[in-house]
Amino acid sequence: MSSSCNLIPDPHKRSTPPIHPLDPKLPPPGLPVSKPCLSIWQRTTRTNPLLNHNSVSTTAVPSTADAVIIGSGLSGTLTAYELLNSSSPNAPKAVVVLEAREACSGATGRNAGHCRPDAFRGFMAFSRIHGEEQAHKILQHEKLVLELLNAFIKEKNVECDWDYCKTFDVVMGKDFKDYVEKSFEDYAAKHGTKDGIEGVRVLNEEEAKKARSNHLLSSHL
Ligand SMILES: Cc1cc2nc3c(=O)[nH]c(=O)nc-3n(C[C@H](O)[C@H](O)[C@H](O)COP(=O)(O)OP(=O)(O)OC[C@H]3O[C@@H](n4cnc5c(N)ncnc54)[C@H](O)[C@@H]3O)c2cc1C
Repeated sequence: MSSSCNLIPDPHKRSTPPIHPLDPKLPPPGLPVSKPCLSIWQRTTRTNPLLNHNSVSTTAVPSTADAVIIGSGLSGTLTAYELLNSSSPNAPKAVVVLEAREACSGATGRNAGHCRPDAFRGFMAFSRIHGEEQAHKILQHEKLVLELLNAFIKEKNVECDWDYCKTFDVVMGKDFKDYVEKSFEDYAAKHGTKDGIEGVRVLNEEEAKKARSNHLLSSHL
């Protein structure tokens, strides 16, 4: 279960211009730090043979490949997985993943473990930056990620504490309430059903207290 109380930053109130990670004027990020701390997850996987595959493997890094992926985190490994499992005749056959440190030693190995799509909340902020069509796509994509992850864990029988459930979005404070309500209304008007937004229940304070005490999980405003 997760809760939130932070506003999504309003791009119109930004005091400095946004930094684009691909801005050629920025210095290259360089390699990740060589001695990062160990997260709680990483402490439980110290004997995994894949951790240091890049340094203990007797196989030399191939001099050519159809696709080279930098980084063995979620983005890199899922890209490799999708490429190697693609049914396209043009899909690369030889895929190399380059990793500077241990496997999954970046954000993937040290995050909070939530996979919680934004059902509607970012609609207003995303729309201002990217337009409403893209904002809708972002929200749809987040939903797809959850479904794909759920399917992956089941299909591969991944040993983990995956709990596919409803979550609360606890709204604290009037500013955030106004922001969330407006996003909800805008998104529901454009992409909702006649009952609101699919999969989202709006509860008032009393209903929310009751739902929580009965362990009925729902979103509420
Ligand atoms: C503390 C924390 C909590 C988070 N909580 C959540 C959460 O609850 N839910 C959620 O959805 N997201 C969460 N995130 C975000 C999420 O973890 C990241 O968005 C995601 O893991 C990013 O995956 P990635 O593969 O893009 O990057 P990473 O996992 O960081 O992988 C990048 C890899 O590339 C390697 N690398 C970097 N540069 C080079 C180079 N030059 N050559 C070779 N290798 C290189 C790194 O060593 C690393 O292994 C959290 C992140 C953090 C840090």
